[in-house]
Amino acid sequence: MPCMRYVSTRGEAAPRGFEDVLLAGLAEDGGLFMPESWPVLSPDEWRALRGLPYAELSARLIHRFTGDALTFDELHGFTTEAYASFRHPAVVPLVQLGPRDFALELFHGPTLAFKDVALQLLARLFDHVLTKRGERITIVGATSGDTGSAAIEACRDRPSLDLVILHPQGRTSEVQRRQMTTVLSPNVANIAIQGSFDDCQDLVKAMFVDAPFRTEMRLAAVNSINWARIAAQIPYYAAAALSLGAPDREVAVSVPTGNFGNVLAAWAAKQMGLPIKHFIIGSNRNDILSRFLASNDMSARGVEPSLSPSMDIQVSSNFERLLFELLGRDPVATAQQMSAFRATGRMPVPDATWREATKLFSGFTLDDPGTLAEIAHLHRDAGYLADPHTAIATAAARALAPSDLHMPVIIAATAHPAKFPDAVQRATGIHPRLPLALADLYEREERFTVLPNELREVEAQVRAHARRNTVEA
Ligand SMILES: *Cc1c(COP(=O)(O)O)cnc(C)c1O
Repeated sequence: MPCMRYVSTRGEAAPRGFEDVLLAGLAEDGGLFMPESWPVLSPDEWRALRGLPYAELSARLIHRFTGDALTFDELHGFTTEAYASFRHPAVVPLVQLGPRDFALELFHGPTLAFKDVALQLLARLFDHVLTKRGERITIVGATSGDTGSAAIEACRDRPSLDLVILHPQGRTSEVQRRQMTTVLSPNVANIAIQGSFDDCQDLVKAMFVDAPFRTEMRLAAVNSINWARIAAQIPYYAAAALSLGAPDREVAVSVPTGNFGNVLAAWAAKQMGLPIKHFIIGSNRNDILSRFLASNDMSARGVEPSLSPSMDIQVSSNFERLLFELLGRDPVATAQQMSAFRATGRMPVPDATWREATKLFSGFTLDDPGTLAEIAHLHRDAGYLADPHTAIATAAARALAPSDLHMPVIIAATAHPAKFPDAVQRATGIHPRLPLALADLYEREERFTVLPNELREVEAQVRAHARRNTVEA
């Protein structure tokens, strides 16, 4: 296996191997890691992957990104364990909703959202690398709801990890909050920030940029800025595309988008040689990406709460990776765009670059009433119960006429309807039931700390948590 190296989108950090990229998350220059070159599979190599069990398919594809950091057999062992925690034998089943539209159900993992697919594997990779190195790290993460619970469920009680998750107080659903705050493992701490998800994300970034703190705490990230997470999300697009006829048939994808990680994984699958011809990005009223695609208006507005809280985001971190590629992998130009965005809240994307983006991507925005109408429509017409995030993607797919898009559309079904029961009940009159393993969630004890949007206070809390566990260990 040749050595796979990663470069920063901002060009000021030395190229790194997979292990370092996994542990570091964000590059020292504030950029995101990208593979130095894309591993490309030939059509015959893709055909040979058809019909494999998901754990094996995913190990084969992810191994193209890990280089010699671990053997194929080790990786296959981890994917087998990770996906054994899913409640469906196909792990990521495909369900037909209409003549052209297929839901790729990514929510059969322990916390009922697609983030389990990557994080169940990531926690095992972290533990493997750290145990090998005899090291211990502190993972900090910001969540709009689903990353946090998935990270906590994946990392709880793992000996080499401490975990601190920041969520915006009162802006996650009750199921989301309880899935985080009822895990009382000593290596897990929850902080409710008096602010928005973007505030939480900014706090996490600020902790990483604070070099002495970062070194002292041995900080690591599990947010979707971590390349390993993107890599772990590529295989499900491959599984769906292969079963719909790829590489001999073109497909499109429709993805409900927040931080741009999930759709970026689909785009990466295309770079690896899958014929994914079009990318549909679904947004709620926080529609920065749709505005960008419609009129080259990449400007952040205030975040407004919606029925799809995991998409209540105005700064889509992973967009930087696409921007880097669209700018011909020019790190200086990428860094300039990002610093202009940071300074002014507006990204001056060159017109030619924007036009390139619009050839591949289209944006679609759906407000809350539209989302409820779509959930009702799907239930009435296809007998399907969709959560609000998934419904935005199904509506986005249907908004494109068959004459404009005559190929199967893989719709990322990102959350189980029972994770957002109030919206589903309002739309359909049906209260979706939690799977058995979570049936007593509302009775469990919760534990979390509320803090203001202040870096110093958050750092102090992280330090206290990590230190306590080191002393106890
Ligand atoms: C995280 C999440 C999204 C957004 O995914 P990104 O990778 O951030 O674009 C969409 N739907 C659900 C249910 C999520 O949990």
